[in-house]
Amino acid sequence: MPDSSSPAVNPVHRASAAAFAGSEPWSVICDFDGTIATVDVTDELLTRFALPEWQTIEAQWKAGEISARECMAQQIALLRVSRTELYAHLAHIHIDPGFREFVADCRGRQLPMQVVSDGIDRVIRRVLLRNGFGEISIAANRLIHTGRDTYELQFPNAKPGCSAGSGTCKCAVAAQAKPRRVLLIGDGTSDFCLARNADFVFAKAKLRTYCEQQGIAHRAFDTFSDIRYLLSELLDHPHHHHRPLPLANAQSPTWSI
Ligand SMILES: [Mg+2]
Repeated sequence: MPDSSSPAVNPVHRASAAAFAGSEPWSVICDFDGTIATVDVTDELLTRFALPEWQTIEAQWKAGEISARECMAQQIALLRVSRTELYAHLAHIHIDPGFREFVADCRGRQLPMQVVSDGIDRVIRRVLLRNGFGEISIAANRLIHTGRDTYELQFPNAKPGCSAGSGTCKCAVAAQAKPRRVLLIGDGTSDFCLARNADFVFAKAKLRTYCEQQGIAHRAFDTFSDIRYLLSELLDHPHHHHRPLPLANAQSPTWSI
């Protein structure tokens, strides 16, 4: 992945700044694992149901020996769980309590919002359905049931040459939202690449650290209650950059850069 040592010469930084001068409406690309779901559901499934070799594969990915896509394909092939057990486990997955109001806000504003994840489509759909969000558009990796308790992962949203090596190329999915400006909401490694290309980022956890280090225009959040506030700032008061914000930190750019 190309890197930039100085935020001052980071072209993504400039692109994000330019976003505030534009007049195109926004669209939202939202991560799932660790962002909408309070845990990484994929990791939980592997921990609970995969043969132990999944950890060796995880280590290979962390060492940069295999791509995220190769890693997930091999790990999902190690799952040994019936569909019934899988769905029973998913019934215990919690979503961020503020997500419901956030979805209502987006709807009220006619702001397109799509869940784009390098996780598992069937898992995401199941969890969202259980919580009454059957209408939300999802782009993620496709889980195929191949036997009584075995699975295969397919990658309908992969892009040849995806610099992040992802199963779902978030940048390619986000490009379909153009000419709208793209707001990314996310928490982790699978969001890094799009964070560099999005018009603005709401970030937590690892993604927040990444944005700080790379000089990417962003605001930090912990919950969807924070996001509702930040969304209102972004859409309703984009030029009120002197207004104190509760989540401001010294390294974050202000709204108007
Ligand atoms: Mg995530």
